[in-house]
This record gives sequence, structure tokens and C-alpha cells, in this order.
Amino acid sequence: KAKQAGRNTYRVFLEEMSEKSLQHFQLEHALPDAIKGDQLFLEYQPKVSCETSEVVGFEALLRWQHPEHGLIMPDDFIPVIDESNMIIDVGEWVIENVIKQLSAWRDAGATLLPIAINISGHHLHSNTLTAYVEKLMTQYGISGELLEFEITEGVLTGNTEESIAALTALKKTRIRLSIDDFGTGYSSLSYLKKFPVDVLKIDQAFIRECSVNIEDAAICKAIITLAKSLGLEVIAEDVENQEQLQFLKQHHCDVYQGYYFSRPIAAKHAMTLLEQNLSVS
Ligand code: C2E
Ligand code: MG
Ligand code: MG
Ligand code: MG
Repeated sequence: KAKQAGRNTYRVFLEEMSEKSLQHFQLEHALPDAIKGDQLFLEYQPKVSCETSEVVGFEALLRWQHPEHGLIMPDDFIPVIDESNMIIDVGEWVIENVIKQLSAWRDAGATLLPIAINISGHHLHSNTLTAYVEKLMTQYGISGELLEFEITEGVLTGNTEESIAALTALKKTRIRLSIDDFGTGYSSLSYLKKFPVDVLKIDQAFIRECSVNIEDAAICKAIITLAKSLGLEVIAEDVENQEQLQFLKQHHCDVYQGYYFSRPIAAKHAMTLLEQNLSVS
């Protein structure tokens, strides 16, 4: 029931947005100021080991606190700028702020865990991504093992040659690569052979009913098996209840994230989790 209402609310919101497509236009033009000013910020969603329930990392998720429009979520502005060079400015802002955050946590004495960053296809293929992230890693003394790039599989299908070049360069930095929303990209699986992928993230579409729907259960099991036989890590996203987690544990999924463990949280709360992790180990 609640979910249904949530979805309807969202649809109404989207309809309002497209009616006022002028608003999109203005948001797009307001973004450079947002980047330069202090309107963008990141939340961090914990990634948790299915086996030990320990936090093993975070995903950085972008938010935009607009002075007039209020809090704007990424699905409402990333798609608008995804094909333009503005996505590179946004992507660089995110990379810089994640690396700064890691170095701040390190300076505060925390034991660091990897942070995953969502990277758009346009940015991946821009030829500036690797040099940019390397420069910041050097500047702040953060190694590649502490970062992970999440890209959706659709990004890898259209531009094979370009993607191989981009990912080969990226691989040298030791940043891990994960396929976000895995299973929904409508693509051939052969890219898993061609590209240096480290992690598969099972999309919410299959997780939502994995504990009650036979087909979804079969797809989740198949993805977990596929990941394991290729030597990849497998993560379930958007885990919302105990039944889903039970299913994932039973089928030896490695890691999960979702509201069941925690919503995306402010950096200072993520720091608290890092400190707790330290005290149990
Ligand atoms: P995504 O990478 O698949 O991120 C997961 C989304 O699922 C996040 O929404 C997160 O808040 C939400 N989520 C987490 N747990 C649950 C759950 O248990 N239930 C449900 N229903 N949702 C859950 P968010 O933060 O609104 O981000 C949406 C999308 O926007 C992301 O999907 C990603 O594609 C994009 N995005 C977010 N941050 C960035 C960024 O810095 N750069 C780029 N290029 N894209 C971003
Ligand atoms: Mg993601
Ligand atoms: Mg995802
Ligand atoms: Mg998703």
C-alpha cells in the first residue's frame, strides 16, 4: 500500500515536472551555480556483508539543496544533464568531494572503507576521467582500492572500443568497477568477458519480490551463480525487509544495501559507522 502511494506521488511529481519543462530548463541553468556554491552535497549509503552484517563500504549519492526548489533528488536532474558536458562537471565535483571525505575521515583516525561513485557514460568516455581521479588521489593520498566506480551496463554496450580504452586506463588506478542495475540494461552478457568488471549489483527490479516470486528468485540465484563463477563480487541493492535478506543469505549473496539496514545518511553519521566498525574488529 505504502509503496503504491509512493509511486503515485512520484508519478504526479514527474507529471508536474514535465508540464513545467521550463523548470527543467532553469534547473539545468542553475546547476553551474550549485556546483560552484554549496548547494550540492553527498549522502552515503552503507554496504553490508550478508554473512557478517559488518559495513564493508558506502555508495555516495548526490543531492541538490536548491534555495527555491528545495531538495532535488538525482533522478530529477542527472537525466536532464546526462548527455551534456555538465555531467562531467558534476561527476568531477562528486569525485573530488568523495576523495576529500576519505582524507578527512583518515585524518580523524577512522579506518577507511571503500566508497562507490556513480559515473555516467558520457563521463566515462570523455578521456578526462582517469587523469582527473588520479590527480586527486595523489593530491589527497588516497589509493584506488578505496574507490569504486558504478556504471550501468547500457554504457558498455554501444561504445565497445571506446569503453575498452577508458576502462583499461581506469584499471591501472586500481579503482574497482561495478555494474549498476545489473540485469536491466538489455544487453549481451559478452561484455562481462571483454571488460575488467569486479562487481555486479543486482537491480531492485529482481530484489523487490525475490522472496515471494519464483521468477525473481530464479533470476537472483542465476545472477549470484554467474557472478561467483566469474569470480566477481555480487551486491543486492534496495533490500527493504528481513525476507529479502534471508533469501540473499541463503543463496550466498556477498553484500547488500538498502533501507532495511540504512537509508543514505549524512557524512557525519557514516563516520559513526566507521568508528563502530573499528570497535568490533
Ligand atoms: P542507483 O545508483 O541505483 O542508486 C540507488 C538508489 O536507490 C538511490 O536513490 C538510493 O537512495 C535508493 N535506495 C537505496 N536503498 C533503497 C531501498 O531499500 N529502497 C528503495 N526504494 N530505494 C533505495 P537516489 O539517491 O535517489 O539515486 C538515484 C539514482 O541517481 C542512482 O541510482 C544513480 O543512478 C543516480 N545518481 C545518484 N548519485 C549520482 C551521482 O553522483 N552521479 C551520477 N552520475 N548519478 C548519480
Ligand atoms: Mg549506484
Ligand atoms: Mg543501482
Ligand atoms: Mg537502482
